[in-house]
Amino acid sequence: MTDQPIPQTDPKAGYLAHKAEIDQAIARVLASGWYILGQEVAAFEREFAAYIGARHGVGVANGTDALVLGLKALGVGPGDMVATVSHTAVATVAAIELAGAQPLLIDIDADRFTMDPANLTAALDAHRGRVKAVIPVHLYGQPADMAAIGDIARGHGARILEDCSQAHGAALDGRKVGLWGDLAAYSLYPTKNLSALGDGGVLTTDDDELNQRLRMLREYGWRERYISDVPGTNTRLDELQAAILRAKLVHLETENERRRQVAAAYDRALGNGPVQAPRRVPGAVHVYHQYVVKVAERDAFRQRLKERGIATALHYPLAVHRQPAYLDRVPLAPTGLPETERIMHTIVSLPMFGQMTDQQVERVTAALRR
Ligand SMILES: *Cc1c(COP(=O)(O)O)cnc(C)c1O
Repeated sequence: MTDQPIPQTDPKAGYLAHKAEIDQAIARVLASGWYILGQEVAAFEREFAAYIGARHGVGVANGTDALVLGLKALGVGPGDMVATVSHTAVATVAAIELAGAQPLLIDIDADRFTMDPANLTAALDAHRGRVKAVIPVHLYGQPADMAAIGDIARGHGARILEDCSQAHGAALDGRKVGLWGDLAAYSLYPTKNLSALGDGGVLTTDDDELNQRLRMLREYGWRERYISDVPGTNTRLDELQAAILRAKLVHLETENERRRQVAAAYDRALGNGPVQAPRRVPGAVHVYHQYVVKVAERDAFRQRLKERGIATALHYPLAVHRQPAYLDRVPLAPTGLPETERIMHTIVSLPMFGQMTDQQVERVTAALRR
């Protein structure tokens, strides 16, 4: 048994841990005869919004669409710039272009892996009046410095859309991420902390008007069935995924807590050695979507873990501005992105998921100590 490979993430474990509830939820939907935007979606939207502490939740087809709709609801379109980080899932930057706007890429604070407020200020000053929105990403489950980012964005007249796709349940200074901006977008992709067994996404907001706009935009701009008030699209959450998400949402806190336990065990194993553990930010509740270390001899480190049956991953192998689709095409902060460039070659994600067993954690920590 001890020789079973340890995956870097394990969506199937997330299903098996709650199999009876999930199977029951699926059977309930199949028998209901209603498969798109029905009672299950409405209930999930209510329950998820209540969990975050927001007034409204709006289910959509995936996290990328959640970001695109969020930007459109904020009035972002052609001619506008949207500032975000290059050290993120490509989806964040792709969504900006899908909304018709131009991304402006900001450097990160290398201790936190999230948007650097000073670098944001420099970029907004350099493009005064053009940046309509800022998308901070709570990468790896670590809250970005929202007090600073919020002040800077508001000072420049920019709206804030939080990308919470890796941070369901994370908090800063006693307030959950997703409550710091105008709107928040969450992916519910199978590997995320809260995940569907397929694609899914959701937005939260306290703003009644944004809520209305999102609901219209996700279904052809309908206010009333078959009557389009605005040009919209089709990005709906289905009932099966919503029912599965409801079954899983009640376990999210426990699973986030398990991720923190695993992270604490990794922290202890790494100590002050050559492999650098992620920094803890005072006042932040991290949800460790990923546990990302920095190590100079990255290939050798990964190889030695692999020999012990321990999988690792790179999130991400290349910053977005270095990828072929974006290279030399997307504007960067005036100072460039030195921290993003620097960490790109040293980061490694260790095994991390909410159902990791004690035995799996012990095998990883033993390997890390060696
Ligand atoms: C997963 C992810 C997305 C995209 O979500 P999809 O559901 O795959 O479209 C966006 N932003 C971040 C930070 C993500 O991790």
